[in-house]
Amino acid sequence: MTGGLVVVGGSYAALHTIASAREHGYRGSVTLVTREPRLPYDRPSLSKSFLTGTTDPARLAMRGDRFWTQHRVTTRLGSTALDVDPHARTVQLRGGERVDYDQLVLCTGSRPRRLPVPGADLAGVRTLRDLDDALALRVDVATARDVVIVGAGFIGLEVAGALASRGLTVTVLEAAPRIMGRVLTPTIAAYLSDRHAEVGVRIRLGVSVAALEGRDRVRAVVATDGVRLPADVVLVGIGATAEPALAESAGVASSAAGVVVDAAMRTGVPGILAAGDCTLHANRFAPAGGPIRLESVQNAVDQGRVAGATVAGVESRYDSVPWFWSDQCGLKLQMAGLRRPGSREVVRGDPAGGRFSVFHLDDDDRVTAVDSINRPAEHMLARRLVAEGVRIPADVVADPAVDLRALNLTLT
Ligand SMILES: Cc1cc2nc3c(=O)[nH]c(=O)nc-3n(C[C@H](O)[C@H](O)[C@H](O)COP(=O)(O)OP(=O)(O)OC[C@H]3O[C@@H](n4cnc5c(N)ncnc54)[C@H](O)[C@@H]3O)c2cc1C
Repeated sequence: MTGGLVVVGGSYAALHTIASAREHGYRGSVTLVTREPRLPYDRPSLSKSFLTGTTDPARLAMRGDRFWTQHRVTTRLGSTALDVDPHARTVQLRGGERVDYDQLVLCTGSRPRRLPVPGADLAGVRTLRDLDDALALRVDVATARDVVIVGAGFIGLEVAGALASRGLTVTVLEAAPRIMGRVLTPTIAAYLSDRHAEVGVRIRLGVSVAALEGRDRVRAVVATDGVRLPADVVLVGIGATAEPALAESAGVASSAAGVVVDAAMRTGVPGILAAGDCTLHANRFAPAGGPIRLESVQNAVDQGRVAGATVAGVESRYDSVPWFWSDQCGLKLQMAGLRRPGSREVVRGDPAGGRFSVFHLDDDDRVTAVDSINRPAEHMLARRLVAEGVRIPADVVADPAVDLRALNLTLT
């Protein structure tokens, strides 16, 4: 066969698949097919410094032109892959062209959920997934006074904190009884809520959107409790789903919950792999071992690395501790591991001083997850503790006099 490696997607998973394939000795041709008109860039900045700053978009590029030349990659920017024929081993692009492959890696990421309410299509109602979204939002907020953010997840809260600090009136509507309910412990959620209140963000819990009003542009949000909030800009941050259409066209098991892969990032269809936000995978760090779909740079990078090794014929398995970070109101939140229902929470450090962690311990005192505020060194240690399933009694965790690095920790 002559098709070589074709990678669809233009972000962390795609970049690291290609880098890893070459590092592991893959010598065939490599083609990157990406819908966006640019090479992979730093996506997390879009809801952080980029939004309120004046950063030139070109500065977000993850790799310079030299990387793509040195790795002998043919880049097809602004190209959408529409359909895969797994028998002929071809990918059809928008416009009709077909690209041959021997091995195809789907790194298609996820896409934001839309609000299913009247007015959701008005100008000024935005989602934030890519650089074009961020550039449009940056223009909108430059002249805005009132901003309503729907959803108190990571993206919504990062944007809320950044805009409120710049003096805009920011209201966050969250349907659940607390912010980031799916991922954060109540202790951290309460702490972050207070910091948002301090910079002027108004968070309204247990409230969603009934309708968006305006003629050409959005002018107001009508909340489900009947309150009408003026809005020059509305950011919808209510989560994302996988992009399963391409995988489905190839007969790969997939849904909005993700593209099913094994630990080597293979799908069930010969010659087709997947990596990053789009995958649904077993994960020993997840409650009940998964399957789970993760949306994080860590997952996209590490799965990309495994996919690249598999493409090169080198045995490799994905077995990384999930970790994540978020910058909000000048605080660094870092999470290692995944919180499990029923785990015990132990606070280490001083919330009043703005530096602390919440350790999650299972019934055997095993550290299953650690959420840290402004404790980067503890976060790095936490990744190891979770990876190795270390046991630490709760009173030891809570004792600030104990240096956890110096403990003779009990490994499984
Ligand atoms: C605003 C924002 C802030 C974030 N902040 C953080 C953070 O602080 N920390 C963290 O760990 N994670 C963060 N994330 C999540 C992180 O960016 C993602 O987990 C990561 O980008 C996933 O990488 P990926 O390569 O799997 O997919 P994506 O980054 O989603 O990229 C998928 C790419 O595939 C392209 N594509 C899709 N379908 C096709 C097709 N059919 N044909 C061609 N191209 C296609 C898309 O256009 C896109 O370029 C953030 C995400 C966003 C949007």
